[in-house]
Amino acid sequence: MGAKLSPLLSQATNVLAVRGQGCRLYDEAGRGYLDFTSGIGVTSTGHCHPHVVAAAQAQTADLIHGQFTTVMHPRLLELTERLGDVLPDQLDSVFYANAGTEAVEAAVRLARQATRRTNIIVFQGSFHGRTTASLAMTTSKTSYRAGLQPLMSGVFVAPFPYSYRYGWKAEETTAFCLKELDYLLATQSAPEETAAIVIEPVLGEGGYVPAPPGFLEGIAERCRMHGIVFVIDEVQTGFGRTGEFWAFEHGAARPDVIVMAKGIASGFPLSAIAASEELMSRGWPGSQGGTYGGNAVAAAAAIATLDVIRDEALVGNAHDMGTLLLTALRRLQASHPAIGDVRGLGLMAATEFVTDSGEPDGLTAKGVTAAAERNGLLLLTCGPHGNVVRWIPPLIVTEEEIDEGLVAFEAALAESTG
Ligand code: PLP
Repeated sequence: MGAKLSPLLSQATNVLAVRGQGCRLYDEAGRGYLDFTSGIGVTSTGHCHPHVVAAAQAQTADLIHGQFTTVMHPRLLELTERLGDVLPDQLDSVFYANAGTEAVEAAVRLARQATRRTNIIVFQGSFHGRTTASLAMTTSKTSYRAGLQPLMSGVFVAPFPYSYRYGWKAEETTAFCLKELDYLLATQSAPEETAAIVIEPVLGEGGYVPAPPGFLEGIAERCRMHGIVFVIDEVQTGFGRTGEFWAFEHGAARPDVIVMAKGIASGFPLSAIAASEELMSRGWPGSQGGTYGGNAVAAAAAIATLDVIRDEALVGNAHDMGTLLLTALRRLQASHPAIGDVRGLGLMAATEFVTDSGEPDGLTAKGVTAAAERNGLLLLTCGPHGNVVRWIPPLIVTEEEIDEGLVAFEAALAESTG
């Protein structure tokens, strides 16, 4: 008798995907679905982009696994060189792993070792991963943490400027949250004990909420003042997703460490952190490694991904298509009171569903995504109440595909909200 997949693993859709091409996934019967989930923000160049496929196929024939603490392989050197074109000048030292959570943990290790301090400050609603350290930093939903306490200690949670939730303007929320961060530094985690402040520039799993640039600048200022390592988790926002190569580039704040994964290699498992060589060398020798980090096929795919992002001007496309999408969603919001808020940056857009009394409405969001699936459009939800429908199309998406998605969404809205 065959084994079965664990019952703890669930799927958001009913699709059995056998093939992917561009913005579409196809099931066994050959039915196409417009994939506006991008495998949770991964397939930015679209499914099976020919240039990425060719690079991975060629590398597979040459060398699959050049274990990077045993030997070095040329693709990793080339990828590192190429990342230099997109990283801030001073962040010129890169370490590779496989999943986002590993990269987050590598950033935490580095910050703790480099500062000889213990504490990490994160923000309410963040998702940084499911392993021991990153899970302790994750507060986007109790189900990730349930039954697993006590988690790693030394993690402190400050409020994230989620203006719609507070019912305030961005400036007001920013000022409040910076004040609360200062209060936390005065009451719970002294600056001299704080190794790192870690933030997602756009809250992902927590509800697709962009942090106002002033908030990131306020954090950067405090980090500079107190010698705290400023870590930006760009796992979901990086590689052009928000209409800038890195989401922090929408403002003036500059991090000490960038954590990246997802969009880096078009679906091959690869993650990384970038920091200055000076900061990296303050970590402890031997503290970075891993069997699979910087895999040769994943590295070849990442180089090809960078080619496609550059040659097809995908960062600009994310900005333009994102503007188009947000404008259209705001138009829909005007005639659908169930959509309480529309927000986003580039191709990371959200429609937040609420009841007549303004409470989070996860049921309607679920109904809308299920109806959208029946109409051939795949969308995911997020937020602690599952009431935020998130839009993450591949960065290659065209105006026609956005329009097609909007038609399917509007029909789904009509079916689910009457
Ligand atoms: N950080 C952010 C911002 C994420 O969105 C995610 C995953 O969704 C992670 C970290 C963890 O990445 P992974 O699932 O690859 O471990």
